[in-house]
Parts: sequence; C-alpha cells; structure tokens
Amino acid sequence: MPDARSWQTGVTRLVLLGGGHAHALALLRLRDFFPRHLQVKLVTPQPLHTYSGMVPGVVAGHYCLAEAQIDLARLAARAGVELVPGSVRALDVDAKCVWLEDGSSIAYDIASLNTGSLPPTQVPGSAEYALGIKPFEKFLQQWETRGLAARRIAVAGAGAGGMELAMAIRHRVPAARVSLFSDRAMFSGTLALRLARALERCGVEHRVDSAVTALEPGPVVVTQHGREACDLVLWTAGAVAQPWLKKSGLQTDAAGFVLVDAALRSHSHPDVFAAGDSATLRDARHPKSGVYAVRHAPVLAANLVNLLEGRQMTDYSPQSRQLALISCGGKYAIASRGGWSAEGAWAWRWKNWLDRRWIARFSQRG
Ligand SMILES: Cc1cc2nc3c(=O)[nH]c(=O)nc-3n(C[C@H](O)[C@H](O)[C@H](O)COP(=O)(O)OP(=O)(O)OC[C@H]3O[C@@H](n4cnc5c(N)ncnc54)[C@H](O)[C@@H]3O)c2cc1C
Repeated sequence: MPDARSWQTGVTRLVLLGGGHAHALALLRLRDFFPRHLQVKLVTPQPLHTYSGMVPGVVAGHYCLAEAQIDLARLAARAGVELVPGSVRALDVDAKCVWLEDGSSIAYDIASLNTGSLPPTQVPGSAEYALGIKPFEKFLQQWETRGLAARRIAVAGAGAGGMELAMAIRHRVPAARVSLFSDRAMFSGTLALRLARALERCGVEHRVDSAVTALEPGPVVVTQHGREACDLVLWTAGAVAQPWLKKSGLQTDAAGFVLVDAALRSHSHPDVFAAGDSATLRDARHPKSGVYAVRHAPVLAANLVNLLEGRQMTDYSPQSRQLALISCGGKYAIASRGGWSAEGAWAWRWKNWLDRRWIARFSQRG
C-alpha cells in the first residue's frame, strides 16, 4: 500500500522491475489509464526486450535480432513511464526499496516483478565454460561471434527450448556436430516420438540419460557415460530464481520464486506483484514458460489499476492445456496441446504468424 508520506505528496510510486512479457504488455495497456498522481519507473538492463519464442528462429537465421525485439524505451516513453537503465541487485520489501547494480536505490509504494529466471550454474564449470542462454541479447551476440565458427557444439538441457536451439544450430551450421544432453525425458507419448524423429532428421545427436555432471576446460562435457570435447557448450537446462528474491523478505517457493495469489499479488506483501517466470501461483502451479508470462500480463495490468483505484482484484486462472509450437530447425514445427499433436510446415507458419503478431502489437503507432 502507498505509505503516509506518498499520500501526503499526492504521488504514488510504482516501480516495474524487469521488462519481461507481462510488463511490456502492462506498459501498452496502462498507457491509456495511468492516473496523474502515479509516478512509474521501469528498471531494465536493456532498452529492448528479446522475445524468447523467436530466439531459436534468430539462431536458425529465419529472423534478424531486431525482428524479435520489443522496444521498451518507446513503450515507456508513450506511457509516461521513466525508464531506469540497470539491473536489480537487491530488494527489501519491508523498507520498500530496490537497489541496482550501480549502487543507486529506488523507494516505492507498489512494486511489480517481471525479471524472468536464470539458467542454473550449480553444475561445476557451467558458469565458466558454458554460454548461458540468458540474457538472450548477450547469448545471441556470442552466438554470432563464436557459434557460427564452432564445429562441435554441445547443448545441455533437452526441454523445448534446448531442442529448438539444437535443431536451429544444425539448420544454420550444417557442418557442425551438435550433441544434445539430457538427464531425463521431458516429453512422453506421440509428442516424444515426433521430437525424437525431428532431432534425428536434423542430425542432432541426442544423448538421453546423460546428465551433465561437470564442464572442464576445453570445454569438455562430463557425464556418467564419459567425456566429450567441444568447441562450445550452450546451457539451456532448467530455470532458477534470481538470488535476490529469496533475500528480499518476500515469501517464496522452495526454488526461490515469489509466491503469489490468483491476483498475482505476493502472499506476504500485498504491495508487491509478480508475473511470468518470477512468480509461482500458490494454488495453481504451472510450468514456467513465455505462454504463461503472456497470460499473466492483462491480469497484472488490470490489478495494478484496481489496487490504485481501490477496486476488487481480478483473478488469473491458468488454462489446463496450453498450445506448444516447437520449431524444428527449418521452417517446420510440431504443434501439441494436451494429448494432441501434429507437425508440418503449416505448424511453423502458424508459429511464425503468432510470434510476429505478438511483436507487432508493441510497434503499432498511436
Ligand atoms: C531458447 C528458449 C526458447 C524458448 N521458447 C519458448 C517458447 O517458444 N514459448 C514459451 O512459452 N516459452 C519459451 N521459453 C521459455 C521462456 O523463455 C520463459 O519462460 C519466458 O521468457 C519468461 O518470461 P518472463 O516475462 O517471465 O521473463 P523474460 O522474458 O526472461 O524477461 C525478463 C526481463 O527482465 C530483465 N531482467 C532480468 N534480470 C533483471 C534484473 N536483475 N533487474 C532488472 N531486469 C532484469 C531481462 O532483461 C528481461 O527483459 C523459451 C526459453 C528458451 C531458453
């Protein structure tokens, strides 16, 4: 809640941390009804947000980077929001203050978190010898300079993102040997068969039951089955919480993500909202993916206004089955929803249409 000091000055200070999917859409929606007594800041390391759904397409060469990016600076300017360049280093929800990497701080009345997740670095050597997939901007820059020249590439993590990337790499660099390491099967039934066939068609060597236990100089990938020397290792496995969340005073789940209610409001601190990968719904847990981050967005935008205007909160209820469109290197994709799946060039065109439509809504004039 806004404190006495801010009510006296008549200004409520809202700070948006991170420019992920939900905050990008919130900026678009809020632009039309930000009340005058509201002062809003957006903290973001980059003025552009890279849309994860199109990252494998950038690697494959189907898109240039700019086609996969949302101009946060422009959205913020249009909504009358101050863009603060920087990364959050610490948050103290009892003091209602955020500290940035450069040492500066921001006091707030209401905070909203959409800072995503990080690839884990607990595996020995993963921080030193692997190229982390996030931040995407850094990864894509390094991919252009180091990836295109590499001939032996290992991808650790065979979730949808890791598989898409492995196939995209083979499509872009057919001369490269690409090995995909996974500790367990992430998919089952017909979808798993379709994915296995797609990997084989693309020439990706899938090392199943091969948890990467360490990375050594070289880099060399170490599993229980042996050691494999590479030119480049990409780390896509898992999603861990930003370490400062657990120290913030917010109630978190065991993994350190903010526990929120159906209104995307922190359980412990109702003046803090969280959306996307940063949030875990206490009563309706769902996987961490961009699809959910996008669906959180309208609820988050509505509830920020509801709180300011003293109105009742809107609840988010996750769909039980989500559409997944997994690109397979070339302009070919696998579609799945619940127990249904299908594949073809049409599925890639469908994904391309959805992705481009998502990006286009942020660049509309007016
Ligand atoms: C290769 C790959 C492909 C994927 N493809 C898909 C897909 O097709 N569909 C899908 O649903 N999901 C996909 N995912 C999952 C998806 O990336 C995430 O679930 C999604 O990006 C989460 O969205 P978000 O808005 O929570 O955070 P993000 O999209 O990660 O955005 C977080 C933002 O916060 C900023 N930020 C980070 N740290 C800080 C900080 N300390 N301070 C301030 N700002 C910060 C970042 O710069 C970023 O702009 C993919 C993942 C990978 C790795």
